[in-house]
Amino acid sequence: MTDILARPTSTTSVAPAQAPDQVPVATPLEDARHQLADAVRIMGYDEGTYLMLASARRELTVSVPLRRDDGSIALYTGHRVQHNVSRGPAKGGLRYSPHVTLDEVRALAMWMTWKCALIDVPYGGAKGGIAFDPRTHSTTELERITRRYTTEILPLIGPERDIPAPDIGTNEQTMAWMMDTYSVSQGYTVPGVVTGKPISLGGSLGRASATSRGVVHVAEQALRRLGIEPDGSTSAVQGFGKVGRDTARFLAQLGSRVVAVSDQYGAIFASQGLNIELLADHVDLTGGVSGFIGGEELDPTALLELEVDLLVPAAVEGVLHAENARRVRARLIVEGANGPTTPEADAILEAAGILVVPDILANAGGVVVSYFEWVQANQAYWWTEHEVNTRLEERMKSAWDNVIDFSAKRDLSLRVSATCLALEKVTQAHRLRGLYP
Ligand code: GLU
Repeated sequence: MTDILARPTSTTSVAPAQAPDQVPVATPLEDARHQLADAVRIMGYDEGTYLMLASARRELTVSVPLRRDDGSIALYTGHRVQHNVSRGPAKGGLRYSPHVTLDEVRALAMWMTWKCALIDVPYGGAKGGIAFDPRTHSTTELERITRRYTTEILPLIGPERDIPAPDIGTNEQTMAWMMDTYSVSQGYTVPGVVTGKPISLGGSLGRASATSRGVVHVAEQALRRLGIEPDGSTSAVQGFGKVGRDTARFLAQLGSRVVAVSDQYGAIFASQGLNIELLADHVDLTGGVSGFIGGEELDPTALLELEVDLLVPAAVEGVLHAENARRVRARLIVEGANGPTTPEADAILEAAGILVVPDILANAGGVVVSYFEWVQANQAYWWTEHEVNTRLEERMKSAWDNVIDFSAKRDLSLRVSATCLALEKVTQAHRLRGLYP
C-alpha cells in the first residue's frame, strides 16, 4: 500500500548523460547514446554537444488511471519525451506496449531527431508511450486511456509544439481520439496536432503505407548498389504490422520473392515465395501468420538467419544482437523497425560485409508523409495520392544519395554516415540559434 501511495502522478526529469568514452552498451537508450558518441567523435564536436544531445530536452511521465469495463480501476504509466526542438516542433509516434519504459521512449525520441533532420523535415524529435497491452483492452477502454493520456500531456503538445503520430499498438483511430481531445480543450478543431489521422478527419492520402513505401524505395536502391536486380531477388520480412505488411506487399510487387514473414506469434516460409495478398487475408481472418496454407511454419528466430538477398527487420528494437549477428546470411539489411540492430551486431555485420541501411534513413517515409499531412492540414488544402507518393520517393532518394555520398567520401558505414549528417544539421541549427541565456 505504501508503494501505491508513494507513486508520483506526474514528474519531470532528465536522465544524466555520460561522457562519450564511458558509454556502455545494452538498452536502446545506451545504443542510441553509443551511436551519438560515435558521430560526435567523427564530426570533431566537443563533449558539450554530446552532453546536450545525449539527454532529452523535456520529459513528462504521467499516471493514466482507467475505469475498466467491469468497473475496476487499473493504473498505467505514460511518457512523452521531446528529445530536441532546435529545428522545429517535436515530432514522433505514440507506442502502446507492455514493454514501454522511459528509457526506451528516450531512445526512440532521439532517433526521431536524427530521422527528421536527415530527411529534412522541419521538426525535432519526440516519442510517447504507455506501458500496457492494447490487445487485452476493449475499444472503449482504449478510447478512455487515449483521452486521459492526451489530457495529461496537453501542456506539451500542439501543432507548433509537439505532434504525435501512430507507432506500435496505436493507429488512426487513436489519432482521431487524440485530435478530438486536444480540439475540445482548445474549443475548435485542430487537425495539425497529430498525424496519421483518418483521411476523413484531415489525414493524408498515402500516409498509412508511407513507411513501407519508403523502406522499399531504399531497399531497391541498396539492392542495385550491391548488383542485385530487385526483380528476382529473395527477401524475408520480420513483422507483419503497420510496416512489415506493406513492405512485404511492395517487395512482392517489385518482383522480389518474399520467402519468409513473421509476426509476434510465429513465422511462415515458402522457398518459391509467399503470396502476400493471400497471407494478408489469412492474417485478417486469424490474427496471425501461423497456419497459412501457402507456406510451412518456421521458427521466428530462424527468419533472421535465412540465406536471402534482403532482410527487413520491421518489428521492435534489439532483434539483431551480438549473439545472433554472426549467423545472419542476408546480403543486405534494411531497417523497417526503429533500433533493430545493436552496436555490437552492427560491428559484426559490417565485418562480415553485410550492408545495413539504418532505421533513420530506411523507415523515414512515415514521418515524411506525416510532414506532408501536417502541411496539408495547416493549409486545409489536399494533395492527390500520386503527388504524395512522388514527393515521398524524391525525398527518400535524395536522403539515400546524401548518405551514400558521405559514406563513400569518409569510408564510414551507412549508419554512422546518416547519424553524422543528421547531427550536423541539428548542431548547425543549435549554433545559429545560440545557447540561451
Ligand atoms: N512512429 C513513426 C516513426 O517511428 C512515425 C512518426 C511520425 O510520423 O511522427 O517514424
